[in-house]
Amino acid sequence: MRIFCKEGINYNEGDPNYDLFKLAIRCSAKRLFPNFSFLDAPFNKKFYREGDYNSEVAYMGCRTRVMANNYDPTKAVVCGRGNLSFTSINLPRLAIESNRDFDVFYKKLDAMMDLVSRQLLHRFKIQCSKKGRNYPFLMGQGIWIDSDDLGPDDSVAEVLKHGTLSIGFIGLAETMKALTGRHHGEDETVREQAFAIIKHMREVCDRKSAETGLNFTLLATPAEGLSGRFVKIDREKYGKLPGITDRDYYTNSFHVPVYYPIGAFEKIAIEAPYHDLTNAGHISYVELDGDTAKNPEAFESVIRFMKEAGVGYGSVNHPVDRDPVCGYTGVIDDVCPRCGRREGEPVTIERLNELRMRFPSVPVPCDCNR
Ligand SMILES: [Zn+2]
Repeated sequence: MRIFCKEGINYNEGDPNYDLFKLAIRCSAKRLFPNFSFLDAPFNKKFYREGDYNSEVAYMGCRTRVMANNYDPTKAVVCGRGNLSFTSINLPRLAIESNRDFDVFYKKLDAMMDLVSRQLLHRFKIQCSKKGRNYPFLMGQGIWIDSDDLGPDDSVAEVLKHGTLSIGFIGLAETMKALTGRHHGEDETVREQAFAIIKHMREVCDRKSAETGLNFTLLATPAEGLSGRFVKIDREKYGKLPGITDRDYYTNSFHVPVYYPIGAFEKIAIEAPYHDLTNAGHISYVELDGDTAKNPEAFESVIRFMKEAGVGYGSVNHPVDRDPVCGYTGVIDDVCPRCGRREGEPVTIERLNELRMRFPSVPVPCDCNR
């Protein structure tokens, strides 16, 4: 669930739908959703044409973004296409195996991106071997661009070329730890080195697009399941490396680790530039303590800072508890502020955001099943 934010529509006082922006903030401060997508971020704004919803960059589920169209630049639109598949790279493992040598790391990264792109093309070939009748809704009903004239026995190959093939990554923070001993939240120089790695990955994606005439895009992988699985495998293989494999999860995509003490605004400022690079999708989270429903102004200042910093898609995490007996929603410590009932007498308080607060690198299970 997400709301578009756009100057002239709903972002500023006096905009026709400003009241809806305010309501969205109140709702999210209470229940974690909606998330906020920013149509004025430069990489989203360049596609925007007034009055044309097909030009409004949309984020599906927890972050997926499909917009530019290298196969047919006249059809760089939201509707009628989608992401065909994505594969994520375990960046920390490449870094561990590089023994702090950036040249070795980049060689390994290039080799891995080449392998992943060939794997994506292989999968694409299998998808392309299908006929119109295999997609009775998407193709049969003309949902996908250029599928209107497709018969049941026609190949879907040309139509699918409008879709995207995405290369993802996780654990930039642990990668920098392995390469330099510090992550990009801790050190200015490391911040530049980290950005250069992801910029390089985007350039490789753009080059693959140019070479194939298809849409290779770079994804800031959410990796709810993967981030735990990768670190477990790597811990068995390389041991418990401080700051790298000694936690339950690798950090989500380019995020500054949630366990690292840093101000909300600084975290946003560090992460925002990566939104421009990750054209297959991205999201930044900020953790706020306490009951944000009682302080929507603080919540709004975070959202506005995200927009000004050039974030494409953002969300605020905060604790949300609910007393199933009296229905009170907010932060409940031991005693419910509404009915005075103590935890466990007779039922347990629902901690809606417990998973997200306990393992904050793992976003709350999103609505797209990734
Ligand atoms: Zn109560």
